[in-house]
Amino acid sequence: MQVLVIGAGVVGLAVARAAARKGHDVVVAEAEGAIGTGTSSRNSEVIHGGMYYPAGSLRARHCVRGRRMLYEFCAAHGVTNRKYGKLIVAANDAEIAKIESLAAQGRGNGVQGLELIGGSAARGMEPELVCAGALHSPETGIIDSHGYMLALRGDLEDAGGAIAFKTPVTGARRRSGQWAVDFGGSAGGTFEFDAVVNSAGLRAQSVARSIEDYPAARVPKQVLAKGNYFAYAGRPVFSRLIYPTPMPGGLGVHVTLDLAGRMRFGPDVEWITEETYTVNPARAAVFYDRIRIYWPGLPDGSLAPDYCGIRPKLCGPNEPQADFMIDAPAQHGLPGLVHLFGIESPGLTSSLSLAEEVVGYLDS
Ligand SMILES: Cc1cc2nc3c(=O)[nH]c(=O)nc-3n(C[C@H](O)[C@H](O)[C@H](O)COP(=O)(O)OP(=O)(O)OC[C@H]3O[C@@H](n4cnc5c(N)ncnc54)[C@H](O)[C@@H]3O)c2cc1C
Repeated sequence: MQVLVIGAGVVGLAVARAAARKGHDVVVAEAEGAIGTGTSSRNSEVIHGGMYYPAGSLRARHCVRGRRMLYEFCAAHGVTNRKYGKLIVAANDAEIAKIESLAAQGRGNGVQGLELIGGSAARGMEPELVCAGALHSPETGIIDSHGYMLALRGDLEDAGGAIAFKTPVTGARRRSGQWAVDFGGSAGGTFEFDAVVNSAGLRAQSVARSIEDYPAARVPKQVLAKGNYFAYAGRPVFSRLIYPTPMPGGLGVHVTLDLAGRMRFGPDVEWITEETYTVNPARAAVFYDRIRIYWPGLPDGSLAPDYCGIRPKLCGPNEPQADFMIDAPAQHGLPGLVHLFGIESPGLTSSLSLAEEVVGYLDS
């Protein structure tokens, strides 16, 4: 089959690679001039364990399976990663109850190695930490996400696939049993495909609306939740990722480490209506307050605005968490068309597993 994947983020690349390795002729259309310039280069680069997501959800299934696949992929392709492990810390008894239920949910989801520990055991692992107890996840790690995307691109091209850069998809329609797709850019025009995967991240809804036969009423609402990061100027004091108990909309202002062991903090949750990528320095005040709950030793003046990313959410503040949404032919009735909506965290961790599911729908 001639397969078009719209978007060369980590998910689009993983889908394109899986489709090409299955023997399809694959082209990826990417609006920008390089791979992974969207949300895929604006995240925490965490390989998540999989305990945050409700049993039976796509996020639970693909995170746990995708994590195992990702570690194997990294080993086979020489992609740098470090299994630092992570502590989700509880500040008080109410939060202890929350991490206990996270532990139960995680075990139900098949996350291996989860262990509830007391405050002093947590301090034994991380002496600067102050908490009433913690959930230890030894499988959580950090990945060089650009190295990973380069490896996906390499596999895609080895299997005969190609990426067309600066080639935005502007519309599509059914014509003689195929998808006629319009492209902008200097190589623009209309070309035909047997199957189309919409993996356009923050633009997935607008791409879906540009497909004439796809009912506009099926396009889910999109809500933008910016996550801001602050860099830490001093020497690292933690050797694991440290997360507070999750907050509505995100996982809480956490400590992440890069592959060199340097610390940074974030992301927070800032509900926005337009895409902007500036970090407001005034948000530092909230960061100091939140971080000092578990690290009272955070020095004044040590945080500097860093980067931010935008979560393509399907739900707003005070609404129940939405799952990933895969709208495939079995749901909408149009052959060979698959939309990926709301692929926020843990989309990076889930990418290889999500890709297998999506490719399974292409000839339906
Ligand atoms: C703050 C934050 C922290 C996160 N942390 C983590 C984490 O630690 N671990 C984890 O597993 N996940 C994390 N995630 C989630 C993860 O980053 C995303 O799920 C993942 O990057 C989504 O990839 P994607 O390919 O779907 O989208 P994107 O990376 O956004 O790619 C979409 C691509 O489509 C292109 N495009 C758009 N419109 C068109 C068009 N019309 N034609 C052609 N191309 C088009 C864009 O240019 C872009 O390159 C985080 C997300 C955020 C926002």
